[in-house]
Formats: sequence, structure tokens, C-alpha cells
Amino acid sequence: MQPFLYRRADDPMALVQILAREESAAGPPTSADTQFIAGGTTIFDLMKLDVMRPKALVDINGVRGLDRIEQSENDVRLGALARMADVAAHPLITSRYPVIAESLALAANPQLRNMATLAGNVLQRTRCTYFRDVSWAACNKRNPGSGCAALGGFNRPHAVLGVSPSCIATYPGDFAQALIALDAVVETWRAGRTRAIAFADLHRLPGDRPDIETILGSDEMILGFRVPAAEWTRRSRFVKVRDRESFEFALASAAVALDVGPEGLVRQARIALGGVATVPWRARDAEALLAGQPVTMETAERAAEAAFAAAQPQKDNAFKILLGRRTLVRALLETSSLEI
Ligand code: SF4
Repeated sequence: MQPFLYRRADDPMALVQILAREESAAGPPTSADTQFIAGGTTIFDLMKLDVMRPKALVDINGVRGLDRIEQSENDVRLGALARMADVAAHPLITSRYPVIAESLALAANPQLRNMATLAGNVLQRTRCTYFRDVSWAACNKRNPGSGCAALGGFNRPHAVLGVSPSCIATYPGDFAQALIALDAVVETWRAGRTRAIAFADLHRLPGDRPDIETILGSDEMILGFRVPAAEWTRRSRFVKVRDRESFEFALASAAVALDVGPEGLVRQARIALGGVATVPWRARDAEALLAGQPVTMETAERAAEAAFAAAQPQKDNAFKILLGRRTLVRALLETSSLEI
């Protein structure tokens, strides 16, 4: 790990001054010389591996009010610095937004969930082995223009949706699937100005620049997430399938929320897929197929087939298509049978 400066910003003005001093604004956020740090559970890993080499870390844990969970008539606001464990156990979230609670509770392990923040969680970086091991020169995400070792290498954990000839790395998070399914909005702050971004627009497909992972500026900080309120969000679930039942990333996951009418027909389905795509993935074709239908094995299988119609498997990961379909079918059937 290379030496780095440690700064602490307890209020936004201090942050502006520090960022101006450290000249952090150039380049994509992931390679900026100055990085924000809160829980630190991703960035310290990557610094120890020499994958990220920031010159300065700005500790934002002291910025007041960013760890709150607040309810209003129209939405719930989850602060960027709220810890995963706190949100997963919060009565409002477990009762009104089970898909959020489950996505957080199934991630990582208790120690990490106690430390890691919501903003850090959605910005976590891929677990692609070639990305995390700097002895591999060819990685367009870590070293733009160098190639992709995973394309001809071991690619069992890699993505089948949203891939490009430059990168097939899987987006590793779970919480992001719940946010994109529920049409959440991200609030950010940059040099004294705030903006609101649809969560679905936050992450970028890899295209020919997999090193640019989000639309955030390098000095832009996430303040929180707004999740719209609706009675039907109670009917939601997160199903995660992995190689082992604890402390493991998803091979396939599905976040599902269903608005079902009194006659048992789907008014609106919200579906997101994880473990199979390069970014948090909304399965809108599958959602459209379910509109006006009851959720049965047959309609769920049809929707799951549509969700993976555009999949592009590699030599080791074709199994993810069938696994992803079955994960979604299970999530749909379990969600539709919830009593709310
Ligand atoms: Fe790098 Fe992406 Fe290829 Fe992995 S899949 S080696 S992250 S370019």
C-alpha cells in the first residue's frame, strides 16, 4: 500500500476546502487522487491490493445528519452514511420495504454490515479476479486500453447481461438491485450544489470505458437515497443464490416488488437482477409480460425467459442463464404469495 494523507471533513465547507486543496477533480472518480472514505470496507481492500492508489483519503464520517433514516408522506430517505446493519434491522424498512432489508441482511457478514455504509455499498467495485490482482496486466477497468484477461480466462463468476467486448465484470452488490427495482433516487452533493439522479442512471454500462463506472464527478458525494412510498412495497422480496450460504457474492439474485390488484392480477411488477449483469439490472421486458397477468409458474417462467433473452454467456458462465431464470421464478412466486 502506498502512503496516503488522511483528512477529516466534519462539515460541507471543510470538504470544499479539502477537495480544492487536494485537486481531486480530474479523471474518473475511481482513479482520482482524493477519495472519500466512510466504512472503508471496500477501499482499504483495494488499496492493500494496490488496485487503488489514492494520495489522500477524506473521512466523511463526521458530517452530521448523513446516517439518518427519515420517513415522509411520499418516501423514505436513507442517509448515505447509514450502516447496512442498522438499515436492515430498522422496523420501518423490515415492514414497508422487505426487499431492501433482505438485500442488506444477505450481504457480507455481521462485522462488515456494522461498518459498511449504504453509499459505499452501491459504489463497491467488481470482484473480478483479474481486476483485483495487479499481476494481470490486461484489465480495461483497472488499466484502460490494456485488454480483458477474463474474456479468454476463467469467467465463471462474470456477467451475461450488459457485457461489452471490453469488460464482462459482474456488478457485485445486492442493495442496488432493491433500489433500482423500487425506482429510488440518489441525492448527491458537489461543491455546494445538490442534484437528484434516478438510481437507474447512476451506474454506466462498461462499453469501451469500463473504468468509468458511474456518472458521478470525482468530487461528488452521495448524500442519500429516496425510495418512493407505496402500500405495495410491502409485497417485495430479495432472493440470492450463491456458492455458500454466508459471506458470499451472488451468482444470481432477484429483487422483486409486485403491485397486485384485488382480483389477483399484477398491476405493476418491479424486477431487478443481480450477480448476472455488469450493472444493477432492471428487467423491464419481464415486467411488461407480467402486467395484467396472475403470477403462476407459467407466467413467471415466461417472464424469466424474457429477462435473459439478451444474455451473452462466456465459456464458463452459461449456467447463470438457467440459474438466473430459476432464481427469478422463485422470487416471483414467493413475492406473489406474501400476505400484506
Ligand atoms: Fe478487467 Fe473487466 Fe476484464 Fe475483469 S472483466 S479483467 S474487470 S476488463
